[in-house]
Amino acid sequence: MFLGLILLGVSCSASEPASDTASEPASDTALSIEEQLQLQEIADKKFEEQLQALSIEEQLQEMADRTFQELQSDPDSSPDSNRCDAHYGSAQEISLEDFVVGLQALVREVHHRDTYDYVTLGGERIRSGPKTLWMQQAFEDYLNDYKPPHRFDDTQFNLYDIRVENVFSWRNYLRWRNAVCLVSVDDGPVRDSMVEHGRFSGWRTEWPGHAMKWQPYPYVDTGQQVVAAPAIRGLEHYTKYIAGGGVVITGGDDVPDAAMLQARKEVVYQTSARPEYREILEENTVRISLFYGEDTSMLPEYHDIYEPGGFSTGPLDASMTANARWLCFPGNIDRGGHPVFHEMVHTINHVVFEQLNETYFYERIYQLGERALESGVFKPGEQYLGSGNTAGKREWIGEYWATTVEGYLMDRAGFKYSHDTRDWIQANDPDLYQLIIRYFPTEPWEHCPEVPPDWQEN
Ligand SMILES: [Zn+2]
Repeated sequence: MFLGLILLGVSCSASEPASDTASEPASDTALSIEEQLQLQEIADKKFEEQLQALSIEEQLQEMADRTFQELQSDPDSSPDSNRCDAHYGSAQEISLEDFVVGLQALVREVHHRDTYDYVTLGGERIRSGPKTLWMQQAFEDYLNDYKPPHRFDDTQFNLYDIRVENVFSWRNYLRWRNAVCLVSVDDGPVRDSMVEHGRFSGWRTEWPGHAMKWQPYPYVDTGQQVVAAPAIRGLEHYTKYIAGGGVVITGGDDVPDAAMLQARKEVVYQTSARPEYREILEENTVRISLFYGEDTSMLPEYHDIYEPGGFSTGPLDASMTANARWLCFPGNIDRGGHPVFHEMVHTINHVVFEQLNETYFYERIYQLGERALESGVFKPGEQYLGSGNTAGKREWIGEYWATTVEGYLMDRAGFKYSHDTRDWIQANDPDLYQLIIRYFPTEPWEHCPEVPPDWQEN
């Protein structure tokens, strides 16, 4: 205890207090040799951690700079281009306009594909299924069949569904084609081919948070320490970086270190039952943008989006967002919903389940959701209970998975309207419980211990 108090005072300038202690007259406050040795050991460890952080920071900046260079370089000169030329060797050349029109028709078809759509008892359709993977497969088939003229000139089109201001360029075509090709020949990340498709065709790029507009952060597992974020153009807002569990977490100056540490701990826990998902999250450059304030509009990628809690990463998004004020960490007690757990559940759906084509999940989740909602087992929240309309119902079936897994992970009575503890879920929604433990850890998690166990929301 005594040693602990001294350490608190010493903090980061471990060498200074030595002289203070020496000038202390009373001998009973002097440290024993063992205590001095212990202090020295701790100071050494701290020094080593700082060195380690420095080298992680250097490594991160180097990686970020390399990615920047790659983004600037001519894709024609990349070794991938030769391999991919050969991979699509039998494609037939058609005019650029035909190529673009055919591609857009394909994208529309996949977008409206309804294989895994769920139709509720009331006849409402909920869109579902691994759209990203379908898109990739359609791209691959299309590129096997067709190619535009070699080194075509920059061109704009006035065509349905294509933004006129989009410039179709050979360079962006090649980047997209190579991304699609690398999924086939190298098991590359599927999200890349979607993002590069946006860069080439302009599809959905009106969204400011489109991943093509923001350079992804490199991934280096930092352990439980916050380091300086590498400088990336346009993203200077982010000064703090931490990573683990396959996910990068960035925050601005205003996000407390304790929030960064807590978010990483949660992601590592959340992915612990499926460590193979971490690789997929990492290769798809999944990042959480933490913010500490009113809403997401304080983040550079989402200037005009006013989401108070956060939102998940879809296949085209630069990052997932979460309000650090809504997290529970030492110094910031927060009862109730939890944006990191919740949005990470959505993110795993969008990024991991889509890439793996997790049919087991798609074939079960909506039936479970509708049943739980119809029977009143699932109580999503006051908002829904108040309105009770059918639009709310469709929305809530979609939210059922993320909301109940969020409750399962926190495992805190009273933090959600229903599905707040593991025991409750197992007793009241057992099929859902089985589905949850297929993907998420069963080891206990101590969530927000600062709030007493008998706490109830008024
Ligand atoms: Zn949600």
